[in-house]
Amino acid sequence: MGEESGKVIPVRVAVRLRPLNTKELREGCQECIEITQDSPQVVVTGTDKAFTYDYAYPADSSQGYVYETAVKNVVKNLFKGYNVTVLAYGQTGTGKTHTMGTTYTRDDDIEPGIIPRAVKDIFDGVAEQNECEYMVKVSFIELYKENLFDLLSNGNRDDCSVDIREDPKGGIKIVGLTEIPVTSLEETMKCLEHGAMNRATGATAMNAHSSRSHAIFSLHIQQSNSKKDESIVCSKFHLVDLAGSERAKKTGATGVRFKEGVNINKGLLALGNVIAALCEEGNRGHIPYRDSKLTRLLQDSLGGNSHTVMVACVSPADSNLEETLSTLRYADRARKI
Ligand code: ADP
Ligand code: MG
Repeated sequence: MGEESGKVIPVRVAVRLRPLNTKELREGCQECIEITQDSPQVVVTGTDKAFTYDYAYPADSSQGYVYETAVKNVVKNLFKGYNVTVLAYGQTGTGKTHTMGTTYTRDDDIEPGIIPRAVKDIFDGVAEQNECEYMVKVSFIELYKENLFDLLSNGNRDDCSVDIREDPKGGIKIVGLTEIPVTSLEETMKCLEHGAMNRATGATAMNAHSSRSHAIFSLHIQQSNSKKDESIVCSKFHLVDLAGSERAKKTGATGVRFKEGVNINKGLLALGNVIAALCEEGNRGHIPYRDSKLTRLLQDSLGGNSHTVMVACVSPADSNLEETLSTLRYADRARKI
């Protein structure tokens, strides 16, 4: 995956439609988004607006189907030493956290999202390999108003600030970040739960805080072949639950809230520009990674030899059409150029 007719495809884009929710039903909203049958196309009902992606999922697509079709094959690249990034983009309430499975739950009624499924495949893959030895570490970061927080630190949340440095050997390093060695799905999910709890209950946590921050859950995989030549191969797997893509409202968004909106748009804007630059055919030019902390953080895992999947989540409701169109255009830009 990632290579078709010899050409590296740096970013795959999926759009996922969720069902109308109870609030939208109660308010009498109509569905205005359709997915064309047997084709990855999203159509705005009753218009000639149509967008084509690598994948398009109707509201009844299961978590398992989304994972199997858009993510599973990309995860295999980790074993070949590539970095892999999966991003969930979209307006708040459209299903980013649901799709990623960032807030892990043991509730059997809730179908697990991408994170637990991918982690399971990684440990199954590790168990199958008898040539190599593996070391897997996990980290979990929240990026809020251009500040980074270490969600796996045991300290007080406000003391958990960490910073990005360029690594002289290439790539980036996060100074002071907690990395926990894990050997199983169960252990990894405990870290995810712990971090998600820190995120929800932190001192700076406030109204709808999580919708305005990015959550980045990462696995650092080190592979050494002791039977061969002792060489070590490292790969990173970032699973990113992005901040809500909605614009700061023209009314009611002043002071602190307005700044939050502006900063989040900065990260998402920079991400959109980086992805668009990567998708430009034959692009050897400047990729604007340095424009935000989000893109700096992901700079060695977007483009180059990395494999990226973006899942853009949308609501079907006519009341959300403006934000939905903005998401569809953002996702389209990542593919078109
Ligand atoms: P976001 O993280 O984008 O703000 P959430 O993932 O929290 O959105 O989803 C909002 C609500 O919608 C949750 O209650 C979630 O369970 C539900 N939901 C989201 N996507 C789907 C889907 N594809 N199918 C069913 N329910 C969904
Ligand atoms: Mg969320």
